[in-house]
Amino acid sequence: MMDGDSAPSFSGLVSDKIQRRHRERAAMVYVRQSTVQQVERHQESTRLQYALVDRAFGFGWERAAIIVIDDDLGRSGASMEGRPGFQRLVAEVGLGHVRLVLGAEMSRLARSCRDWHQLLEICALFDTLIADSDGVYDAANYNDRLLLGLKGTMSEAELHILKARMLEGKRAKARRGELGMRLPMGYVRRLSGEVALDPDEQAQGTIRLVFDLFERFRTVGKVMRYLVDHDIRMPVRISSGPRKGELAWHRVNRVSLHNLFSNPTYAGAYVYGKRPTDPRRRKPGRPGTGRRSARVEDAEVFLPDRVPGYIGWEQYQRNQLQLRANRAAETGVARAGQALLSGLLVCGRCGLHMVAQYNNNGAYPRYACNRMTVDYAEPVCQTLKAAPLDALMMRLVLEALAPAALEASLLAAADLEREREAIEGHWRQRIERAGYEAERMRRQFDAVEPENRLVARTLERQWEQALAEQARLEAEHERVRRNQPAALSPAEVATVRELARDLPGIWSTATQEERQTIVRLLLERVLVEVVDSSEQVRVACHWHGGSRTSHQLIRPVARLDQLSTYTALVARVAELHRAGQSYPVIAETLNREGWRPAKRRDTFNGSMVHHLLHKAGVTAPRYRRRRPNLVRKPDEWTIAELARHIPMPAPTLYTWVQQGRLRSRVIPVGDRHFTLVHADDATITAVRTVRTTPVPWRRRPSPQTTSSTATIES
Ligand SMILES: [Zn+2]
Repeated sequence: MMDGDSAPSFSGLVSDKIQRRHRERAAMVYVRQSTVQQVERHQESTRLQYALVDRAFGFGWERAAIIVIDDDLGRSGASMEGRPGFQRLVAEVGLGHVRLVLGAEMSRLARSCRDWHQLLEICALFDTLIADSDGVYDAANYNDRLLLGLKGTMSEAELHILKARMLEGKRAKARRGELGMRLPMGYVRRLSGEVALDPDEQAQGTIRLVFDLFERFRTVGKVMRYLVDHDIRMPVRISSGPRKGELAWHRVNRVSLHNLFSNPTYAGAYVYGKRPTDPRRRKPGRPGTGRRSARVEDAEVFLPDRVPGYIGWEQYQRNQLQLRANRAAETGVARAGQALLSGLLVCGRCGLHMVAQYNNNGAYPRYACNRMTVDYAEPVCQTLKAAPLDALMMRLVLEALAPAALEASLLAAADLEREREAIEGHWRQRIERAGYEAERMRRQFDAVEPENRLVARTLERQWEQALAEQARLEAEHERVRRNQPAALSPAEVATVRELARDLPGIWSTATQEERQTIVRLLLERVLVEVVDSSEQVRVACHWHGGSRTSHQLIRPVARLDQLSTYTALVARVAELHRAGQSYPVIAETLNREGWRPAKRRDTFNGSMVHHLLHKAGVTAPRYRRRRPNLVRKPDEWTIAELARHIPMPAPTLYTWVQQGRLRSRVIPVGDRHFTLVHADDATITAVRTVRTTPVPWRRRPSPQTTSSTATIES
């Protein structure tokens, strides 16, 4: 009888183990079905378990004192973890609220022997009886305890045998390599059951291309970008529905690419079962974590060369090393100047989490909303420099923790405490009144003549009701009190005050990690939204405890036309220009009127005004410098010319020249100097190769040149 298909027999006399003291506290009925299917199929069984309520009533408990716990319905019973119902049962017994626990087959409900023995232990300690369809047991009684322990062991053994029987057949099949696994894209299963490469040539070609791209680029992100840029989609065989088996072309994403590179099937291997895990390393609530070994060779069944492969085993292993190294490069190193808000920041435009980016070795951290970029190679949603936002947050946090602000919070806490005292008084009165009522009933019952049985019986019932009401109120009160946060003691308040006084000092000497911790203690999340990529940033802070504040931040922008005031600025400048003012005078007027230019510069000057007028199309440029006729040797270019020809950004080229990686000479013409770069065809080819070769995860000491005459030096 696995699921209680037949009715538990509730017949029999009320056990003499049930005493009056037991009936003074609640009886708890624990109802559980192990899986959703069982809930659907065996409603009958559930109904029977509810009949346990009637049984408790038959034992003499008041209906009001019978509590049903059924929130484990539909959960698997392998362990107490993730089963709040069973935990609540144990907790209520431990608090002494319960004197009887009922279940259809109690030992089955605990499933793991550890849970079961814990319940027994605690029931014995708190004088709580256990009842199932067979009888009533007292866990403190030696014989009963032996029986209960045996029941638990038997039920666990039964479960084990059942599981083993189900799994053994599957394992044997897997060991022969015959257990059908889910095939990744690029594979099909023939009618004979044999696994084969996808017969569709385009599908096969795409998979091969993806592996080739990884050989070339060495990162998932770059492969993904390439595929998106060239609009290449992934071949997926539809696994169910009317179109089952048909080929569909899906948009590429990071996870599926990552899975593709990690899947040993592509190297021809058959793998079944989990790799060995260590429960201590498992993250709570996340099955599948805590693996002890990263090698697929350590899986339960590993059969190399079992299916046709797209790549060789060496290439597969190389890819795994690369993926691991990439991950380490992404997350491993602690950087200087870590952004204060990493992990707290939410994009105000799309609601995704923003990440901190550390370019230039962490010199200029930025916050970026790039989840869609990382996963699907879509454009970046928004990005902004970390420093101004961090500064604002720091100011807000210090303000929130300033002594004055803290006094206000302490006052509020004191108000809360007074409110709680009032409620507490209310509870005391209710319980007192219930006690008085019970006492009154007792006196009335005592006063009645014993001959007047009818009246005596009525009075006795009323007295019992009053007692039950009193017990219920006390239990309820206990529950309410337990759920309230503890108030601060005077010593704690003093510590808080002292800390608040010292905070600016603490902040200035704290490490960045400590600051991040402080910010996280106060803030739940921070929403930012750059308004139309202008200098205006909207910031909304969600503080712990529910209060929300919004702020406006001015961030530095690179160009004047990014300013939200750009149109008004141009209009004003054009107006002043039409009035015949000179550029320096216009600049002075602007500064006086409080206009601010982009970037960090504080004031306008004449040439900025001129540039602005020219860019806005109001005036023509004042002059154009003529490039003098340079006397050149063969294969000599100016930096601008060469940058256009290669092509590459002129500043990068300039840096290379400065570093001496390209041969160059400087010729003075009047008061100006011109750099001429020597670059023959071989050099240009070499530079192009260096430019198009992706940077590997570990920086190579120098770019490889392809020609002996090339003059790129590191
Ligand atoms: Zn976004």
